[in-house]
Amino acid sequence: MMDGTDRSEIGPEIRPEIRPEIRTESKLESQPEIRSTCPYCGVGCGVFLRADGQGGISVRGDPAHPANSGRLCSKGSALAETVGLGDRLLAPRVNGREASWDDALQLVADRFRTSIAEHGPDSVAIYASGQMLTEDYYLANKLMKGFIGSANIDTNSRLCMASTVAGHRRAFGTDTVPGTYEDLGAADLVVLVGSNLAWCHPVLYQQVLAAKKARGTRIVVIDPRRTASCDAADMHLALAPGSDVALFNRLLAELSAGKMVDQTYLAHTKGFTDALDAARADDVSVTGLSEAEIAQFCDLWMQTEKVVTVFSQGVNQSTSGSDKVNAILNCHLASGRIGRPGMGPLSVTGQPNAMGGREVGGLANMLACHLDLENPDHRAAVRECWNAPTIAEAPGLKAVDMFRAAGDGRIKALWIIHTNPAVSMPEADAVRDAIAACPFTVVSDITMATDTARLADVVLPATAWGEKNGTVTNSDRTISRQRAVLPAPGATRPDWAILAEVGQRMGWPRAFDYQSPSEIFREHAALSGIAARLGRDFDISGLATLDDAGYEQMAPVRWPVNATRRGGRFFAEGQFFHADGKARFVPVRYRSPAAKTEPRYPYRLNTGRVRDQWHTMTRTGLSPRLSAHLAEPFLEVHPEDARRLTLAPSDLVQVQSPTGQAILRARITDAVQPGQVFASMHWTGETAPSARIDALVAAATDPVSGQPESKASVVSVRPYRAAWYGFAVSTARMDPSCSYWARARTGAGYRAEMAGDHRPDDWETEARRLFGLPEAAAVSFQDAGRGLARIALMQDDVLAAALFVAREPVAVMRDYVATLPGTSAPDVLSGRPSADMPDPGPILCSCFGVGVNTILRAIEAQGLVTVDAVGAALQAGTNCGSCQPEIAALLSAAQVREAAE
Ligand code: SF4
Repeated sequence: MMDGTDRSEIGPEIRPEIRPEIRTESKLESQPEIRSTCPYCGVGCGVFLRADGQGGISVRGDPAHPANSGRLCSKGSALAETVGLGDRLLAPRVNGREASWDDALQLVADRFRTSIAEHGPDSVAIYASGQMLTEDYYLANKLMKGFIGSANIDTNSRLCMASTVAGHRRAFGTDTVPGTYEDLGAADLVVLVGSNLAWCHPVLYQQVLAAKKARGTRIVVIDPRRTASCDAADMHLALAPGSDVALFNRLLAELSAGKMVDQTYLAHTKGFTDALDAARADDVSVTGLSEAEIAQFCDLWMQTEKVVTVFSQGVNQSTSGSDKVNAILNCHLASGRIGRPGMGPLSVTGQPNAMGGREVGGLANMLACHLDLENPDHRAAVRECWNAPTIAEAPGLKAVDMFRAAGDGRIKALWIIHTNPAVSMPEADAVRDAIAACPFTVVSDITMATDTARLADVVLPATAWGEKNGTVTNSDRTISRQRAVLPAPGATRPDWAILAEVGQRMGWPRAFDYQSPSEIFREHAALSGIAARLGRDFDISGLATLDDAGYEQMAPVRWPVNATRRGGRFFAEGQFFHADGKARFVPVRYRSPAAKTEPRYPYRLNTGRVRDQWHTMTRTGLSPRLSAHLAEPFLEVHPEDARRLTLAPSDLVQVQSPTGQAILRARITDAVQPGQVFASMHWTGETAPSARIDALVAAATDPVSGQPESKASVVSVRPYRAAWYGFAVSTARMDPSCSYWARARTGAGYRAEMAGDHRPDDWETEARRLFGLPEAAAVSFQDAGRGLARIALMQDDVLAAALFVAREPVAVMRDYVATLPGTSAPDVLSGRPSADMPDPGPILCSCFGVGVNTILRAIEAQGLVTVDAVGAALQAGTNCGSCQPEIAALLSAAQVREAAE
């Protein structure tokens, strides 16, 4: 349950699954450690990997990597638990049947060629992702824009940071991140806007905390919701959703009124007066903040020269996302606080290679190497470099429009690569239907177990993170190598090889004749040199002559890398990338979110991530350790709203929007404001079919960036009263079929929450069906009058599965019960440990498996008052540090309780 009152867990040691193809080999133990990169977020942490010879790996942070200096968060630390082959797709599939590569690739090439011949190049599309390596991404873009001749390639980065790209391009002339991660350590003030850095970019957050400790750096969080990032913040501005423009407009006006505008720096810019006029005309009251709060924030910002403004999805995922970005950039340009140590705007990306995708032009409105699709000279340069028969001349369909076109028949052939749009796109139910309706859909992925792969005509098995070679670029322009530590299993192939083969079979054998990712990297680097001569920022021409050995050994390097320059910051002395070398102020005004609350939909729905999961859980969901942090989808509801809705902790709620509905567990908390609710975006048809939250998100987009507004939908909320509630554990995967269920991995197998509208006649029969154990010995207790049932199914004297049922949400110690499958479990039906075994509570520290109750007991018994003291007593928070904000929250709650007693 989400209220944390009845859970315990002591997880057994985790072993990755064995890779069958190398199980019999015995000499791999001596394999050396190799350097690679974590695949989860835009921080881009360096890792050391070592294969164990049995298909598993060990992982540790790379102390020499500039992004993380050896640190990893809980997700990176658990990477070894995600490389098993349990759900892996190991051979191509065509129309649901295994097929040869030859048949599958020929079919893809034929169907794309036929569609282009009959309906034109714009009848086909590629939907790519920020999980692809730069070399893979480069080829996908080359195939579509230079050879097919359409710009219908877009990426899930459209959902992530397209607004930042648009804002950067409007202000700077290119999509340039001016600063570096080192600025976080050198800043005296870090402003987090729409960024829960503590959970979404934990290693960067650790850098901010270290700066706070070392130099007293102050932290301001600007977010409608109180997140884990607020725990160490000096100020939290809980502004109204979508009102960031008004706040930064006030800051710009105050900078001017306080004579804090850097007149020297203004010489590098244009448009200040118009931007200031717009800012002065805006009404800051729409933020809902008090004048005192606003004045305090503006004073702090103006009095602190070294200020870094970090922004992320809360800024980007908005119908005014581009304007929010420019409102922030306006303030940094006006004060000249940009491109110098410890100051500047810093966009942090959600995906590991979102930046690489931007560099290769993976968005439908960009060309490779930050060249402009609308510029004929740029198009000509790219076409010449590629020796391409054509080049796309107009922007293609952005993500939302692409799936609409798939749904209404304009797109006849669609290739989706390493992403799960049937879950992650707004209006996800409509997108799912559009993919199903598209005449021909190809999916490249590492598993069939995604909502999207199940809809495809052809599924191509790609190599996974630990098996791939290439490069990725993180949020501060650092390019790192990703290196294979494991052999490619089964018939899997690298994405670059799959794309190259399709390009060759479509009729361009020489243009797609690549033998290795290093060849592609050199071509990309050479094209960047041409782009630099055309006045673009992205320039890695200094790497264009790397030979294969040099590519293999390449150390992390921040671009630009050319004959005269390596890394560094941009714009301290101006030198912007508009034709006149000047930055542009962009006049912006507050616009409210597209959806308006109304009596039918009175709540504003915010969506986001949780600490230990990533995207649609296709990788992190494989880790029992990560699944232990939050094992069930939830809706945060303010206590006042919960009272009005007669909700108790652990109740289920039905959430409805104009586009979809969901059932989620209520989590009653004042972290959200009254009238606002929050849900996370990770759960899918594979893990919790009633919790596909993006089905509720309207596909309203920013008019400049095309990015959807994922954080300000409108919904209704009401209690969902089921006829029965259940909790189940088993050694083997179970597939419930009831109104609500949510399944998670555990160290012993699986656990599931369930609820249904129809009570079966006999729960033992139902349990046997659910677990697929018709012959197992049963130990059961049933009380039909009270609606109670507890059934344990034993095989060979060990617990194979157990089901607990009640008329109310089941009261058992879930984290304890989840450890019992595979053991003799004599007390399983009691649902709790024996009296001499203390209940550790929900796991807070994933690295050391320390539960909430253990920490609370230590705080009380030992009088602990600091996070460091808790770490010294229990180790909790001393490895990756991701749970430190939650430990701090427990400490402060304990101190409040003590003061009140
Ligand atoms: Fe991976 Fe965590 Fe580093 Fe992000 S912060 S790259 S998830 S280890």
